[in-house]
Amino acid sequence: MTDALGDAAKCSVCGRAAVYKRTYSGEILCERCLLRALARSVKRQASRYGRTFRARMSVLVAASLHSPHLGAALALALSRATANLGVAVNMAIPQGDGWGVEFDPESLETLRARGVRIWRAHLRLEGGLPSTLVGCMRLDRAWSARAARLIGAHAVAVPVTRTLAILAALDSLLAGEPWGLSEASQEASSVSGLAVAPLFYGVEGEAAAALAGAWRLHAWPACRPSTLGKRAFYSIARGRPELEFSVHKTVEPLAASARRRYGVCPQCGGLTPGGGLCPHCRRSRIVCVGVEPA
Ligand SMILES: [Zn+2]
Ligand SMILES: [Zn+2]
Repeated sequence: MTDALGDAAKCSVCGRAAVYKRTYSGEILCERCLLRALARSVKRQASRYGRTFRARMSVLVAASLHSPHLGAALALALSRATANLGVAVNMAIPQGDGWGVEFDPESLETLRARGVRIWRAHLRLEGGLPSTLVGCMRLDRAWSARAARLIGAHAVAVPVTRTLAILAALDSLLAGEPWGLSEASQEASSVSGLAVAPLFYGVEGEAAAALAGAWRLHAWPACRPSTLGKRAFYSIARGRPELEFSVHKTVEPLAASARRRYGVCPQCGGLTPGGGLCPHCRRSRIVCVGVEPA
């Protein structure tokens, strides 16, 4: 195990060797207590969506196009959160013509050992992969909802952390595209008739990435989106988690007002300025999705 905190650091909960210091709380956590903390947060977030997430259901987690290590961390946290509830946790890995998200085999074994079922989702896209964060988040929702229907899952979880949410909000506002604010909201979207929810919304990106690192969940993304908001975010928020932890207070009223002004894209469930597909989905239109066990 790597121990960036030094050999002497002990978990402030249980005393085992620590792997991570959580900036916002100051807690020093071992890999198990970090998992328990994020599983608690996932459970709390899932309870916001009423009966969408319930016992004995099947959930598909999208191993995201842009942050697949966070998708794996979410699958791990969700399987921990639902261990006694009979929930089937699935994770789908997207790939297409000449591109694909890659996991190292040990990462997938770690997830399988925790009961996660792994699938490959084959996408045929007209127009190619998106190059922006909002575009990637939208395509993640679109393909994973279609994959979920194919395997009979009842709902979809995407690994959108509060850090990604605030980056999406800044991107949308800086680009003058307020309809992109739906990506920053924690409300579940309805896509292909299924609810898609950001179950890591209560978690800062740094902690989700630390969970992936601590459990050696390594993956290579298919998309490396540019974000306008990153520089603004890091100049304001470096070492100051308040910005992330108030994201919903800032973003939800803006997203609610955007919802009154814009329509909903039939492919991704995000807001769109015109009728029909949103500008992102027009650039990356899904022609076909197929799923097979990995
Ligand atoms: Zn511990
Ligand atoms: Zn769309």
